[in-house]
Amino acid sequence: MKDSIRIATVSNIPIELHISFWIPMVIVFLYSLLTDRMWIFAYVALLFLIVLIHEFSHSFVAKGYGVKIAKITLLPIGGIASMDQIPTDPRKEFHIAIAGPGINIVMATASYLILMLIPGGTENLFDISSYNSLVISNFIDFLQVFFRINLILGLFNLLVPAIPMDGGRVFRSLLAIRMGMDRATGFATGLAKIISIAMFFIGFLSGNIFLILISFFVYVGASQEGQAVILSGLLKNIKVKDIMSTDVISVKPQDTLSQFSDTIIENKHMGYPVINSNKVVGIITFSDLSKVPREQWDGVSLENVMSRNLITAGPETLVHDALILMISHKIGRLLVIEEGKLTGIVSKTDIIRMLDIMKLLK
Ligand code: ZN
Repeated sequence: MKDSIRIATVSNIPIELHISFWIPMVIVFLYSLLTDRMWIFAYVALLFLIVLIHEFSHSFVAKGYGVKIAKITLLPIGGIASMDQIPTDPRKEFHIAIAGPGINIVMATASYLILMLIPGGTENLFDISSYNSLVISNFIDFLQVFFRINLILGLFNLLVPAIPMDGGRVFRSLLAIRMGMDRATGFATGLAKIISIAMFFIGFLSGNIFLILISFFVYVGASQEGQAVILSGLLKNIKVKDIMSTDVISVKPQDTLSQFSDTIIENKHMGYPVINSNKVVGIITFSDLSKVPREQWDGVSLENVMSRNLITAGPETLVHDALILMISHKIGRLLVIEEGKLTGIVSKTDIIRMLDIMKLLK
C-alpha cells in the first residue's frame, strides 16, 4: 500500500507527504479558517518549508558524494531524506549530517542580521514561550518566527546526540574517526536508546506529544542502525559466488502449475528460473503458485504467472549489495548471471543461514 503522496519533484528528488501528515494539516487549515486566524496555518506551512530546506541540504551534500536520494518524506514530526546508503566513510557521514542543522543556523543568522537593521526588529526575539512568539501579522513577525524556528530546529537536531537524529550521526562519525565504525555505532546506539527513554518520560510528564513520538522514532531508528552495521560488518568482502547454489533446478515456460507443485515438493526450493531454449525468460516462486486456486493448476502454464522482471546479480557482486537489492525490490532470490548465462541462484534464506553460522563462529 502506498503510504505517502508525491506532491512535487525538485532537482530529481521526489517530495512526498506521508498520510499521517494529511489529517493534521486539514485540521490546522480548517481551524485557522474557522477561527479567522490564518497565521496558524501559515506558521505550520513555514515550519514544514524550513524542514524541507533542511532535508534538501542533507540531500545535496549526499548527492555530491554519489549517494542516491530516493525521496524526501514529510511526516508530522519532521522530514526524512531516504538515502540508498549512508557512506561508511565517517567524514562523509559527518558532512551530510551537519548540512541539515547547518543550513538552519545559517538561515537563523541571516534573519537575525536583517532584524538588527529594522527598528524594533529584535524586540522580544528570544521570548519563545509566549503565544505572541507564534503570531505572524507583519513582516517583522515573519522574520522573527523564521528566526525562532530555524534556531530551535538547528539546535535541537544538532545538540541531541541520539542517532538517527543529526546530532547522533555527527557524534557517531566523530567517534568512528577515532575508534572505527563498529565500536562507534555500539556507543552511539546505546546512548541514543538512553536518550530516547529519557525523552519519552520528559514528553510524558510535560504532556509533549511530539517528544513522545520522537522518542519512539529515535529508539527504533537506533536499533535498526545498530543491526545494519553489524550486518555489513559480518558480510564484508563476501561475494555472491561464495554462497550461491550452483546446482540450479530450472523449469520450462510450458509446464503446468501442477507439474510445478511436484517440482517444489521434490526439490524443496521456493523459487526457480524459467528457461526456454537455454535462455532465462522468467522466475517463478511458491508465492506465485499460491495465488492461483488449486483447481486451475492443471490448465495454467508457468509463462502465464511467472515474473518476467528479472533482477539479477553477478558472481562478483557483494552479498551485502545483493541483500539490499532483494530488500528494495521485495524479492526473495536473485539469479546469478555471468556473460549472459545463468550460473547460480542466491536467496535471502541462503544469506540468513550464512549469517547465523557466522554469528555462531564469531
Ligand atoms: Zn536532519
